[in-house]
Amino acid sequence: MDPGTDTIVARATASGDGAIAIIRISGPLTFSIIEKCFKSAIKRSQKYNYLTYGHLIDPEDGSIIDDIFCVVFKKPHSYTGEDAAELHCHGGQAITSQALDMLCHLGARMAEPGEFTKRAFLNGKMDLTRAEAVCDLIRSQTDKAARIALRQLQGGLALKINNVKQNIIAIAAELEVRLDFPEQDLELTDNTIILNTFESSLAELQTLIKQGIKARVYTQGLRVVLLGKPNTGKSSLFNALLKMERAIVTPHPGTTRDTIESTVDLLGCPISYVDTAGIRKTGSEVEMLGIERTKKEISKADLNIFLVDSSSPLDDEDHHIHELLSENSYILVLNKIDLPVGINEKELLPFEQKAAAKVMTSAITGAGIDALESRISQILITGEISIEDALVTNERHLALLRECSESLAHARKEFLRGTPEEFLMVNIRESLHALSSITGEEVNEEILDAIFKRFCIGK
Ligand code: GDP
Repeated sequence: MDPGTDTIVARATASGDGAIAIIRISGPLTFSIIEKCFKSAIKRSQKYNYLTYGHLIDPEDGSIIDDIFCVVFKKPHSYTGEDAAELHCHGGQAITSQALDMLCHLGARMAEPGEFTKRAFLNGKMDLTRAEAVCDLIRSQTDKAARIALRQLQGGLALKINNVKQNIIAIAAELEVRLDFPEQDLELTDNTIILNTFESSLAELQTLIKQGIKARVYTQGLRVVLLGKPNTGKSSLFNALLKMERAIVTPHPGTTRDTIESTVDLLGCPISYVDTAGIRKTGSEVEMLGIERTKKEISKADLNIFLVDSSSPLDDEDHHIHELLSENSYILVLNKIDLPVGINEKELLPFEQKAAAKVMTSAITGAGIDALESRISQILITGEISIEDALVTNERHLALLRECSESLAHARKEFLRGTPEEFLMVNIRESLHALSSITGEEVNEEILDAIFKRFCIGK
């Protein structure tokens, strides 16, 4: 795949007002563009990798756009592996817009999201796991998620994948020899040694998969949806849960005006609590829409919190919500325990039977909120994982590791059965292909586009 022959430009710092804004340029025209628009007492060509003070000027009329620092990187010693530069301007929309317009006028074009990192990958500056880690690092919502992404950026996963790959290649090489020279009296590796290599590679893959299942909750986060009829105390509980922990995203309206969502750091895991509108069972169109939306929320949730008001008897609306939950996992919360009990314990039985846990709370006094939080973490965060072990963190890697493991397990079974090598090789090649797709040695343009689209512009 071609990294691109044109020169790209983008603002690398977040837009909005700030002390400085950094504009990034990469591609073959970088130096000629910088030559035209950056004037300094120090000659650029003698000063790679150093910040140089000077003026950003409009070459059309020589007018000064800004006082800036400029740094140039000569290929391949840059982030992208191409000739590249950064312009450190004063922050603010007006100056950066003017500078970007001028740079495009001089021959650059605006970069697509993730295009700098995509070029870094295509130019061999980093494997795909590291490129993906760059995106994960930027998007990390908790300290733990950031440290996990950083480790992946340092190449932890690629190293492990390559070890497993070398073992599978050793099996493949042995099988190829047997396939190519069946009649010759070659010194063949003992079958037990091959079998051991199969076993150790499969064990390694299983460990990575198991660790990945634990680790992904830290990088991808989890959704907890609060459900209940109106006035059971969903909003009050939502606020109580958010106040417990450091809110890491300010509450913002959800996709509809009926839901509000906010994320907190719970034991290093980003948990998004979603407060849904209360559902009433009526025939009106508006309410039907509300029900549909709630069903959608339930299906997206990793866990639901089903609230009932402990101070009054259950009614049809409570039963209706219970029906909506059907097979989905939920914690039953009896709220308003500071008020006299009005609920009938017997009636609650069917609700309790399907619940993963039952917790009594008062969103007003705060009673039971601690217990609720610890139940949430017990159910969702199924295993603590150290940063060192959290190598696999995204679904793509996990799916490919499973693919690799299945193909390899199949090959092992056939090997034990004495199936001819040429058939085994099909599965062996599949398993190697899956590993190469993780690190990006074998990956198609479509997948790359999907990966880099998740990035922000300028990265
Ligand atoms: P929602 O409609 O389910 O979101 O319920 P709200 O959180 O808006 O609460 C409805 C009413 O119940 C409000 O007046 C709250 O102050 C009150 N409320 C909520 N939780 C409790 C509780 O634990 N105890 C008592 N006594 N009142 C509560």
